[in-house]
Amino acid sequence: MSGPRLTVNLDKIGDNTRQLVESAASRNISIVGVTKAMLGAPDLARTLWANGVGGLGDSRIENIERMRGAGIDHPMMLLRTPMPSQVERVVRSGAMSVNTEVGVLTLLADAARSAGLTHDVMLMVELGDLREGIMPQELAHTARHVLSLPNLRLRGIGTNLACRNGVEPSAKNMGDLSELVESTESTCGVEIELVSGGNSANLDWAFGPTATGRINHLRLGESILLGREPLHRRAIDGLHTDAIDLVAEVIESKRKPTKPSGQSFQNSFGETPEVVDRGEIWQTILAVGRQDTDTADLQGPAGARILAASSDHLIVETENQMQPSQVLTFRPGYSALLRSMTSPFVAKELHSFPTN
Ligand SMILES: *Cc1c(COP(=O)(O)O)cnc(C)c1O
Repeated sequence: MSGPRLTVNLDKIGDNTRQLVESAASRNISIVGVTKAMLGAPDLARTLWANGVGGLGDSRIENIERMRGAGIDHPMMLLRTPMPSQVERVVRSGAMSVNTEVGVLTLLADAARSAGLTHDVMLMVELGDLREGIMPQELAHTARHVLSLPNLRLRGIGTNLACRNGVEPSAKNMGDLSELVESTESTCGVEIELVSGGNSANLDWAFGPTATGRINHLRLGESILLGREPLHRRAIDGLHTDAIDLVAEVIESKRKPTKPSGQSFQNSFGETPEVVDRGEIWQTILAVGRQDTDTADLQGPAGARILAASSDHLIVETENQMQPSQVLTFRPGYSALLRSMTSPFVAKELHSFPTN
């Protein structure tokens, strides 16, 4: 071992995938497995596919290209509306893209024509969370624009909730989505194949008592990887919440006071920590910091309490003195996972542990 590492149990992730895919299938919903929190790791993509997802989704073209480069030719979806500067790459990747801007759609069509390809499009509609989305009254106009461009194919209509403002997917907004799909079909004379209701935050709604209407597609990342739904961060019944660990090495462990001495002002992050004097404790420092993860989104092991973090140090109260080279294992939340995956200082170990 060298340095902090993320260990990812692909069997547990595969298990989570299969359970979610099967539950969703009973409501006629297909699942796109979202790989962005793991930078499009090809072994993750293969695990998701082997466990029944209908496609793979990522927000970054680089990650989609990484999976394509690894020989993964399954259906893919770009989850962030394309940058105008990347339309050629988006078209060549063969991934469907989500879209909200007429100008970008025109650029995609031009790029597809030059490449001699047809590009699949899902239009995203704004239903209250105020991230990306076409205003509902503009949807038919944008759909007509897609239909007028020969190298584009209108595959679906979708929405995204709970990301910026935590707006909950509900009978109301999901009903509105179904109605918008039907009005677009009748005003534009098309049939919409995919109706994508949202992300992991849609699971309570999808498995709840209300009819799912036209929604037949969800895009799931966090629930598959961490076994939680993101609205309340509740564990989902039957899923593994311990598939991913962040392991860090002890570099110092000493008996120290809890109260700093000297006059305190702002720390290096502009914070002025409140300190309660609890006498002396075992203060243990781990070699992982804010540059490597979201230290506020880590759950420590029993008996270890995270006190503070700087760029490179995680300061933990432990029950006993530890030795340098011992390690502690933390459970990352979504934000911690995303950041550790992106840190070049954190090793990524994706394992498959056959269970029988
Ligand atoms: C990231 C993302 C998802 C997946 O969200 P989770 O909460 O991880 O399930 C779905 N759709 C879009 C558009 C995204 O950007």
